[in-house]
Amino acid sequence: MKKFGIITLMLSIMLVIAACGTDKGDDTKTSSGSDSGDSGKVYKVGIDTTYPPFEFEVDGKYTGIDIDIITAIAKNQGFEIEFDAMDFGGIIPAMQADQLDIAIAGMSITDDRKKVVDFSDPYFDAGLTLVVATKTTDIKGLEDLKGKTVAVKNGTTGAQFALEHESEYGFELVQFDDSPAMFQEVSNGNADALIEDYPVIAYAISQNKLDLQLVGERLNGDQYGIAVLKGKQADVLKQINDGLQDLRDSGEYDKILDKYLAE
Ligand code: GLN
Repeated sequence: MKKFGIITLMLSIMLVIAACGTDKGDDTKTSSGSDSGDSGKVYKVGIDTTYPPFEFEVDGKYTGIDIDIITAIAKNQGFEIEFDAMDFGGIIPAMQADQLDIAIAGMSITDDRKKVVDFSDPYFDAGLTLVVATKTTDIKGLEDLKGKTVAVKNGTTGAQFALEHESEYGFELVQFDDSPAMFQEVSNGNADALIEDYPVIAYAISQNKLDLQLVGERLNGDQYGIAVLKGKQADVLKQINDGLQDLRDSGEYDKILDKYLAE
């Protein structure tokens, strides 16, 4: 009896601690507000938090265009989300392994990816650009890359573009897992150039005063979409598209972009 009493007491204490703890230190969860509540399912959303202005961390909190957009869509459509930050290259594999329901990660809509995920309507026009150090004067475009090293980020459309053009222009590839490491490599002279999404590198240069510059025209017309696992999440995809349209119609979408991009 005594033993049983102690166990009951311990269980009660644990319950109290758990109840008190729910609001603390958990800034990754976003509640959808009061209008939710049918299934109670919380969708896991994969993000790449090395990717400002779309996803980044300030004082331990996730912020950025993608974070605000998916949070607003969840609220609008009455579902709940929980963020899961990872290297960009790990996001689609994690979806396939059923560890994520949704991905929003400055992810470009491509035919290759459409084989494994379904994309929402496009929500941002990005496009790739070539970038070199500010002191570099001999690289004005892809045709100047013969014998040079080009830094790219694993699993991205930038890496794919570089792979497809490597032999044509005669450069060598170096791969990184996140964008800041790649920027560093070029600004400190270890690599000659990099390929990155235009809005991301433009933002990084303006915010961090990186010794980098954009060269040439945009290399393609990549557009961002929100991904769900192919064929499995038709309802969620519809909710995402409906929510996105509502945000556009109400002006909230423009407000979110202005918050991060207006300067
Ligand atoms: N837009 C690029 C892609 O989809 C890069 C995304 C990223 O690095 N987060 O591959």
